[in-house]
Amino acid sequence: MIPVNSVLQVGQFPEIMQLEIDKRLSTIKLLDPHGKAPDGSFAAILTRSNTQLPKELFEAMPSVRMVATCGVGYDNLPLDYLKDNGIKASNTPGVLNDAVCELAIGMLLGLLRRIPEAQDFVKSTAWSKSPFTITSTLAGKRVGIAGMGRIGQDLAKRLEPFKVKLAYTGPSRKELPYEYFSNIKSLAQACDILLLACPANAETEKMINAEVLDALGPKGYLINIARGSVVDEEALLVALQQKNIAGAALDVFENEPNPNFGFLNLDNVLLTPHIGSATSETRQLMTNLAIDNLEAFYNQKPLLTEVKN
Ligand code: NAP
Repeated sequence: MIPVNSVLQVGQFPEIMQLEIDKRLSTIKLLDPHGKAPDGSFAAILTRSNTQLPKELFEAMPSVRMVATCGVGYDNLPLDYLKDNGIKASNTPGVLNDAVCELAIGMLLGLLRRIPEAQDFVKSTAWSKSPFTITSTLAGKRVGIAGMGRIGQDLAKRLEPFKVKLAYTGPSRKELPYEYFSNIKSLAQACDILLLACPANAETEKMINAEVLDALGPKGYLINIARGSVVDEEALLVALQQKNIAGAALDVFENEPNPNFGFLNLDNVLLTPHIGSATSETRQLMTNLAIDNLEAFYNQKPLLTEVKN
């Protein structure tokens, strides 16, 4: 049982998530995480991965002992501060794999077959004047996945029927029937499509740099459904403008919700507004898993999906 008003909800939640929260909890809301912490003795915070929580918020509220974030990525939390102060954290892994994989595959096909431009072509009646451009087939391509975790492995399984050759990189080699590369550059060199599904952390920051993009080459495509920080966006813009790579599909950006303007006028990109998990089914599952974690915390039980920091 979670006591009334003992959870501080930080940041704005989409309606579908707020409905789930209001069904199960009575929270106090702080819309701006940089705003003044409200009065009250909160034991836990509920937030979501698009809301960056500054450590000052926790400093102002020493009663907080747990934070539940809706999302599998937890780069929005001040991890060092939480660890140093023994504050627990939970995320929502697994329940969003289906939605994220479906989007990634949609983006991949949309980019290769130029589906958004094809629709514009029909709607603008340009079709009556000339045929649409010839595009590229996915079958036969070599697809490299950077980050063969829950989402990466689900993606690989879903891609198998598309008759592609799969490979991956990451810190550890897995018992998987795909070729393993020990570093991102050699994976990029060996594949036509590079799919990012790794976490945002110090090691992955700007991991996709000019050298990796050069290795991917002029026939190569980049799909990023991980985090914007994994890509050196300046290097990517140059690679796209100069056609050093064939194209990119990006769901995530360094500066959300105001991505670098340079991407907006390119014709070799497919851009989506960080919607990997944004289906009503998935958002309900994420919200409920976050609240299940809060319940476990209040009942002094082990968290269901604790972030091991
Ligand atoms: P996960 O199960 O923890 O998998 C992450 C994988 O990345 C692990 O296999 C890990 O390798 C690997 N990895 C770690 N450092 C790496 C590096 N330097 N290079 C390559 N791979 C590396 O996480 P998940 O549930 O699959 O989620 C992955 C990420 O997707 C999340 O962190 C989040 O940022 C992003 N995401 C985005 C959306 C969206 O809306 N676009 C939605 C959900 C998730 P080891 O197994 O060897 O440790």
